[in-house]
Amino acid sequence: MLNLVFFGPPGAGKGTQSAQIINRYGLVHLSTGDIFRYNIGNKTELGKLAKSYIDKGQLVPDEVTINMLKSEVNKIENPKGFIFDGFPRTTFQAEVLDSFLEEKGTKVAGMISLEVPEAELKERLRKRAIDSGRADDANPEIIANRISVYNNETAPVKVFYDKQEKLHAIKGVGSIDEITNDIIKTIESLKD
Ligand code: AMP
Repeated sequence: MLNLVFFGPPGAGKGTQSAQIINRYGLVHLSTGDIFRYNIGNKTELGKLAKSYIDKGQLVPDEVTINMLKSEVNKIENPKGFIFDGFPRTTFQAEVLDSFLEEKGTKVAGMISLEVPEAELKERLRKRAIDSGRADDANPEIIANRISVYNNETAPVKVFYDKQEKLHAIKGVGSIDEITNDIIKTIESLKD
């Protein structure tokens, strides 16, 4: 199995690049943010709970997120691999993911970290709010909160994978195809 963690702050391009890569490698794209939004749209209990955090730009509690992620992984029969997009977002989530995959006889092959300057991120989120209608993209205070949560709670996840020599930083600025090509080169190096 080829399991990849796509990492980066809000607006870095994780979703866009995941969509570019999944078909090429036959991977399953699991975006915790998309799954939460799907549940919010369907007004499930999980959706109601998640919304109360997402609307403030806070992380959904680890336990809730981890249980959801595990159940999504377990739904797939004979997967070729996964792109985890927006997960793990805390060091605890990263530790749990490692042991969960180990139980399944597999592991994270690498973390693809998309690097984008903060001013560019804010501009992308402002534009995305108009196109996507995502409430958490529209409010500058919520955006600022998401970026600070990212810096405080999520950025340490990079250190976690760096220690395992699995961190691959990719410049997330340029054309979508250029960035995809850089990611493909990295994935090919992981397969050796
Ligand atoms: P995203 O679409 O990845 O930007 O996620 C949107 C929101 O969903 C985030 O701002 C968090 O509130 C929540 N969320 C997504 N993934 C996670 C995660 N792994 N852990 C906790 N909260 C998450």
